Amino acid sequence: MPPALVETIDLKKHFTFKEGILGKPIIVRAVDGVSLTINKGEVFGLVGESGSGKSTLGRLILRLIEPTSGRILFDGTDITKVRGKKLRELRRKMQIVFQDPYTSLHPRKKVLDIVGEPLAVHDNLSKEQIADRVARALTSVGLEEEHMYRYPHEFSGGQRQRIAIARALVLEPEFIVLDEPTSALDVSVQAKILNLLLDLKERFNLTYLLISHNIAVIDYMSNRIGVMYLGKLMELAERDELIRRPLHPYTRALLSSVPIPDPRVAKKRRKLLLKGDPPSPIRVPSGCRFHTRCPYAREKCRQVEPKLEDAGDGHLVACHYWSEIYERDPPTLEWIMSY
Ligand code: SF4
Repeated sequence: MPPALVETIDLKKHFTFKEGILGKPIIVRAVDGVSLTINKGEVFGLVGESGSGKSTLGRLILRLIEPTSGRILFDGTDITKVRGKKLRELRRKMQIVFQDPYTSLHPRKKVLDIVGEPLAVHDNLSKEQIADRVARALTSVGLEEEHMYRYPHEFSGGQRQRIAIARALVLEPEFIVLDEPTSALDVSVQAKILNLLLDLKERFNLTYLLISHNIAVIDYMSNRIGVMYLGKLMELAERDELIRRPLHPYTRALLSSVPIPDPRVAKKRRKLLLKGDPPSPIRVPSGCRFHTRCPYAREKCRQVEPKLEDAGDGHLVACHYWSEIYERDPPTLEWIMSY
């Protein structure tokens, strides 16, 4: 196992709002005690529905927002409270690619200024040196040098996301958070961007935290997968282990939602469909926070919160009845064949 690059220890982010001037404070538990490790050189996939807290977790790790409690380690150093110059130095090593390349690029700036901006902030480089570094970043993502003199509106969605990736690469980081990097793109270009990201990871020894609501994207890219629900990790395992032996009912439901191209296999698959939308993170259900949608829920689930426990070989799951559910309802051959 390669060494850890990023660790979070019982990390929490609670946002507090007031309803009106005299209203009672409302607490949104966006991230509610997440401990995980991202190893050097791996793609750690974080999957969950909208509102599960995965994007907030990504921003906490990058120190774009302050945690309520818990700790963040980067390369063995506690970075939870670093500020000023140390935080700026840290930002060189940790970058982010946002979901929407239509809003994440300044419409009135040329590509040279957009991609070169981090260099202007962090390094004391001449205009020629910045142009040279921007040209290298653009060619590494499959764009042309001359593209640096154009504006974002002159590019397609896929090309804009390549510009956003070039901006993340230009400081030669070690770690990149990819926050839904393809969900705003046409299906036809999604695979190209995912393959580009995998290629760049190998070329530049990068480590990724990939955030997506789409478990098919996570499955394609990741070495290990964490499943989040309402601010907590429900399951965490190696990619193959999680796909072949999903233990948590929520993970099973996410996998059930992936379309299977072969209709004969699809017909045989037993689907686990979820009822309704996730509850609001303002009113997190008692006990197991998944109990309001879980087809296996019992009285204990409503009262006692399950802890993440090791189900063997480092496969972690937070469910009181995972072994019983697995024995009663094991993944079928058709299930496995579909992956
Ligand atoms: Fe379902 Fe209970 Fe397991 Fe939660 S603890 S996932 S409600 S069976």
